Amino acid sequence: MKEEGKEKINLTDRDANHMKSGGSKDIRPGYNCQAAVTESGIIVAGEAVTEANDRNQLKPVIEQTESNTQEKVKEVAADCGYGSYANYEYLEQREIDGYVPDSNFQQYQSGEYEKEEHRYHYSNFKYDATSDSYVCPEGKRLTYWRTRTKKTESRQWNHKVYRGTECGACQKRSLCTKAKARELLIDIREPLLQKMR
Ligand code: SF4
Repeated sequence: MKEEGKEKINLTDRDANHMKSGGSKDIRPGYNCQAAVTESGIIVAGEAVTEANDRNQLKPVIEQTESNTQEKVKEVAADCGYGSYANYEYLEQREIDGYVPDSNFQQYQSGEYEKEEHRYHYSNFKYDATSDSYVCPEGKRLTYWRTRTKKTESRQWNHKVYRGTECGACQKRSLCTKAKARELLIDIREPLLQKMR
């Protein structure tokens, strides 16, 4: 186990990983099976992976589909498990029409964030592309301040930080932020997510 950097190991199938399966909450040893299917129901790509999360599987499945069919993929529909900024970026670069919701899409659609208790949720700040700024629920502007980068071994995030310009005199500030001025951290790929919605 130490050699393979694992905390748990399956003695009968050492390649399997521990993950939820078949809608069950139980964690069992298994594989995450991926398949690409055409509109007419033909399986054109398939893979069993040991990573429980689907997010990193969209690109390899598309590439395997293209390799197997020798045709460029033009459209992709996948569930929200495949929704990520990296995947939206990949689809955009490859000029593939994507129908891949993000994991918060349903909550937005349900009107949850339109409720009064969520009045100051970031989704209620309106983006103004002409001035690259946001307008808060009280009609005040948050302007671009700087881009903040966060890195891990495998990923990097670049967030644009927008900062309130009139928060100091705002009567609602305690409902909106604990800081002197409200800040919004927006992933630089946010327009791709909005386009997908
Ligand atoms: S604190 Fe700033 S961003 Fe929040 S509601 Fe007031 S003016 Fe708008």
